[in-house]
Amino acid sequence: MTRVIFLGPPGAGKGTQAQILCASAEVPHISTGDILRAAVKAKTELGQKAEGYMSAGELVPDDLILGLIRERLSEADAANGWLLDGFPRNVEQANFLNELLEEIGQTCEVVVNLEVPDDELVTRMLARGRKDDQEDVIRNRLEVYREQTEPLIDLYNGRKQLVSVDGNQEMAAVSAELKKIVRGAKAEAQTGAQTGAQTGA
Ligand code: ADP
Repeated sequence: MTRVIFLGPPGAGKGTQAQILCASAEVPHISTGDILRAAVKAKTELGQKAEGYMSAGELVPDDLILGLIRERLSEADAANGWLLDGFPRNVEQANFLNELLEEIGQTCEVVVNLEVPDDELVTRMLARGRKDDQEDVIRNRLEVYREQTEPLIDLYNGRKQLVSVDGNQEMAAVSAELKKIVRGAKAEAQTGAQTGAQTGA
């Protein structure tokens, strides 16, 4: 089973690396940013509500996000694993996810923190040129990340689930490292499950 959360600041390469990893691990790439952008494009109710927050670089309110995650994780393809990219993004979302996983009898194997220095993040996002990649919006997204998302690093570290990866290397080097980490976490989870079965724990 592969169940992974990708943490890390905007522009760290979570989306790109998630796609590569999901293709090899054969699990769905669940990106709240992608889901929201598709909703904006399709002009759904969710998209219309989310658009203003996104273009300002603010987080979309939890009440729009939590139900969406609950539904997405209960879809058939998520039964065999998943990679969450862009969720959870604040402590409330992390607590919600924790309860949801308990409720559906799943556990996250590893939380990957992709580390990239701020000046490199800004350079990458400006080069990417997405609608919310203008300098003032980028600055706000980084600030929102520091305030709301970064506390999750300590939270998952405290649960011994966190692994940090230097995202400021060549793309292939990051991919190779991530693959190794996920393979290791998967093996560890299997060993744990077997030991648990043997000892009756
Ligand atoms: P990046 O990692 O570059 O910021 P994302 O695609 O993950 O890009 O997110 C883009 C925008 O979508 C965010 O700035 C935010 O407005 C919204 N968003 C994505 N995921 C969440 C989430 N879990 N909670 C609230 N808002 C979110």
